[in-house]
Amino acid sequence: MNNPLLEPFEKAPFSKIKSEHFKPAFLQAIEDARAEINAIVENPEAPTFENTLEALDFSGQQLDRISSIFFNLNSAETNEEIQKIAQEVSPLLSEFSNDITLNQPLFERIKTVYGQRENLSLTPEQQTLLEKRYKSFSRNGANLNEADKKRLREIDAELSKLKLKFGENVLAETNKYEMLLSNEEDLKGLPEGSKEAAAQLAQSKDKEGWLITLDYPSYIPFMKYAENRALRKELSLAFGSKGFHNDALDNQENVLQIVALRHERANLLGYATHAHFVLEERMAETPEKVLEFLNELLEKAKPAAEREFAELEAFAKELDGIAHLEKWDSAYYSEKLKQKLFNLDDEKLKPYFKLENVISGVFQVAEKLFGLTFKEVFNVDKYHDEVKTYEVYEDSGNFVSLFYADFHPRPGKRGGAWMTSYKPQYTLNGKNSRPHVSNVCNFTKPTTSKPSLLTFNEVTTLFHEFGHALHGMLANTVYPGLSGTSVYWDFVELPSQVMENWCYEKEALELFAFHYETGELIPMELVEKIKESATFQEGMATIRQLSFGFLDMAWHGSDPSDIKNVKDYETKAFESTALFPDTAETCMSTSFSHIFQGGYSSGYYSYKWAEVLDADAFAYFKEKGIFNKEIAYRFKEHVLSKGGTENPMELYKRFRGSEPKIDALLERAGLLETKD
Ligand SMILES: [Zn+2]
Repeated sequence: MNNPLLEPFEKAPFSKIKSEHFKPAFLQAIEDARAEINAIVENPEAPTFENTLEALDFSGQQLDRISSIFFNLNSAETNEEIQKIAQEVSPLLSEFSNDITLNQPLFERIKTVYGQRENLSLTPEQQTLLEKRYKSFSRNGANLNEADKKRLREIDAELSKLKLKFGENVLAETNKYEMLLSNEEDLKGLPEGSKEAAAQLAQSKDKEGWLITLDYPSYIPFMKYAENRALRKELSLAFGSKGFHNDALDNQENVLQIVALRHERANLLGYATHAHFVLEERMAETPEKVLEFLNELLEKAKPAAEREFAELEAFAKELDGIAHLEKWDSAYYSEKLKQKLFNLDDEKLKPYFKLENVISGVFQVAEKLFGLTFKEVFNVDKYHDEVKTYEVYEDSGNFVSLFYADFHPRPGKRGGAWMTSYKPQYTLNGKNSRPHVSNVCNFTKPTTSKPSLLTFNEVTTLFHEFGHALHGMLANTVYPGLSGTSVYWDFVELPSQVMENWCYEKEALELFAFHYETGELIPMELVEKIKESATFQEGMATIRQLSFGFLDMAWHGSDPSDIKNVKDYETKAFESTALFPDTAETCMSTSFSHIFQGGYSSGYYSYKWAEVLDADAFAYFKEKGIFNKEIAYRFKEHVLSKGGTENPMELYKRFRGSEPKIDALLERAGLLETKD
């Protein structure tokens, strides 16, 4: 059988690919990659950087390209067939990658080179690659004795079961809860759309009335708009007590077991705590530094948060005679106060943000900063008619990247917005092989009478994802494993978040924010309002984010063997950040999926960390001019093009001249102002 995935291809050959090509292609490519690795291991010559590390990084390229095509399609244009194949090939792929990390002879070769690293005159990029590969083995137990290795495997198996169970419980708790309302009066305050959705949901379950659930699209509007305080309380308590009912779906014991096993695993590998283990491969480096960071922000944000809380409480009292503000009042009165202060709604802004104009805007920003031009091309194979394809060039005329953009929702596309790639950048045999990068979003489709008009939030999303795309497109490294967005977790959001800043700048908006009917430029007082409303209740929001970071560090930054009670421990961790009265019925940890199911353990701080970085970086642009070519060049040269080739703090300092400071974030967030 002719299989387009197994023939050499430069661009992804979408039109030739049929679903049935994937499985055999995966099987063949895995076998080929195994053969490449065996050849490295069986090489009779002594291990060198070239015959081991370099060879390993360039192995499995066909497999990587097939995987990226397949999994990108599974996210952006999937169907039952593809989903079924995903279920079949995912275990094969994890088995293959496990076989590499557990390949002891391969590790011995890497270890030999690692042992000689001081005398090899490696480039900084090569040193990073060596270190990264060595760590990927040692952090997985390659240096342990057999008994400890065995224990590590047991822990890993147990942890993956527990994480799965944790997630299943949260999901089951979310799905189990229903608030059925039969009196329309109880929905007072909700927008028509939310009411309709609630009625439809009830109908779909053969029930009379309106159904509210703990799914975000149902939960959030109710907490924001429903006037009935008792019902808001009921819903809020249900939301806050997921996995905390002392029943079959309870997660307390799972939390305790997960943190105990993580701690044991870290100790086995020679780390003091799980946080020490995780942070070794982060820009923040140590738990001490993370805590120092969280505490510094807390000190600065707390006065603002307390001021905002008092203001909100006074507002609620004046409006409805509420004496003490509770958690279930927060979203509701915040929304009301925001409306009163800014009277800014999406419908007013949307006409100024026609999708085509915003795309042109982000391209112009990239041109002014980095000298890039985007040429739409129509001869590139694509997986759906709606996908747009561009060739990206530097002002020297050099080809930079292929760029795919896929903007609108479809039944086969998952929600959200993301950047991905179909081919990494690398340099092989002196040839710089350029990347193929993609942005996928879910923006409102145009209709026959109206073009696609974006909300302001969608505009910043587009700039954000485009920032990730630039990180991929401008990559200029040797090894594919260090290229583009292959950077430390707490560094990867810098290029994306920094781009969002241009959306608030007059000089940038003047390039594209024109009314789609009249052509009029967006009035600057609207822009001012957007800016102001963006920092509305920023103190409270900051404290909330910090509280999650503190909780995460509490669970993972110390020996958990003495923790007996999940709720008590959590309450203590929240002490410094609590604004609202605590409720005995609720517990955050038992549904904190980010850290107990997803990959954010000891990493929650990175949301704020990335904000500090992007604010500090943008302050440099603000100081010298937001289109200052020299600053842009420094950013491209030291950050965007370098991928993960060096320690991110070093890269950042080379761009900025110093380590990031929190001042710019505090200023942008309005947390520096002294109000009385
Ligand atoms: Zn992002």
